[in-house]
Amino acid sequence: MMPFDPISIRQQFPILAQQAHDYPLVYLDNAATTQKPDSVLNAIINYYQTSNANVHRGSHFLSDKATNLFEQARQTLAEFIQAPDNSHIIWCKGATEAINQVAYGLESSLKPDDEILISSLEHHANLVPWQQLAKRTGAKLRSIPFTSDAKWEAEYASYFNEKTKILACTQISNAIGVHLPLDTLIQEAKAVGALTLIDGAQAVAHYPVNMAQLDCDFYVFSGHKMYGPTGIGVLYGKTAALEQLTPLQTGGEMVLKVSLLETEFNQLPYRLEAGTPHIEGVIGLASACEFLMQQDRQAMLDWEISLANRVRRILMNEADIKVYSPANTTLVSFSVNNINLTDLNAFLDSKGIGIRSGSHCAHPLMAQLGVSGTLRASFACYNNERDADHFVATLLDAIDLLAD
Ligand code: PMP
Repeated sequence: MMPFDPISIRQQFPILAQQAHDYPLVYLDNAATTQKPDSVLNAIINYYQTSNANVHRGSHFLSDKATNLFEQARQTLAEFIQAPDNSHIIWCKGATEAINQVAYGLESSLKPDDEILISSLEHHANLVPWQQLAKRTGAKLRSIPFTSDAKWEAEYASYFNEKTKILACTQISNAIGVHLPLDTLIQEAKAVGALTLIDGAQAVAHYPVNMAQLDCDFYVFSGHKMYGPTGIGVLYGKTAALEQLTPLQTGGEMVLKVSLLETEFNQLPYRLEAGTPHIEGVIGLASACEFLMQQDRQAMLDWEISLANRVRRILMNEADIKVYSPANTTLVSFSVNNINLTDLNAFLDSKGIGIRSGSHCAHPLMAQLGVSGTLRASFACYNNERDADHFVATLLDAIDLLAD
């Protein structure tokens, strides 16, 4: 393991060395997507320069090379999330596609009176597929109303009952950085025999995850939020849970035998992977896992949290700013009285600072908070104190200017 060094880490992300609107680029939109280190970019280039062919198809030199790299990548992912073996790793486009696969895949096992439980902190990706599933099946979608400290309240236990068939909730809120009490939620779900899906999209870049410990049925995440490429992500599942799923897509690769009227599906994980996969994405994602696994993850997380706390401490003392994210998380989410967030965002952008303003694909949460949106600065391992300080100073200047 390498000792964590923010200076040498940053050098591995050459995109950050550029100017934006004639100012040094400050990238604080990492909860939306992260930048990619040289090692990930090189793994993709190297794949195309040395090994490109379709996988699992031909019996020739390049096809074997590509297939080996592709299946080694599955092994790396299994290690990254401490899954028992490769058959639990299903490639998909990202968290959204993975959740859609599970929601669609469980449709035939749901009855009109059944209940699907989510939390009020969900990204639309972990809400709309369940809402649509509920509409199609007549099942009822319910939401546990977590507040911004996400404390487990005794009354929440009443949300779980013998009708609850699925609990789908996020590990960390993308909009306000709150962590859900997963151990309690998963325990409650198991007690009523419900399946559990955890959306790890905001967790995997920051926290080591361990499937054996978490003990959920499904876990989903996207490569692009953890220093990997876009268009690739993972659906992890326990064998029995994955076997219950009807494939969302059918076609080549996922079959053993096909006649005109019948198809015998392949075994896991291939049964849920129709068509030519995103091979370069898979290889880039495995490289991103290697990048993370080589780091001192605790020191990396401490660094990211220290930067977010540094910003948060100052914003908490500003009379016109309301902060929604708790301390000791990797993002700061806030609103500013009487100033349009889009104007603030545009001002920050004009000074080279990229953050996110808006509802963060979480309309029900925004309604619960009573705001139309927030500004969110989210940190990654390559950010530094200069980024944090420049952001805060520019924000405070903007507030002075725009308030006049
Ligand atoms: N869940 C959470 C918590 C997210 O933050 C996001 C992305 N913002 C998603 C799901 C969807 O991820 P993707 O768009 O990569 O499928």
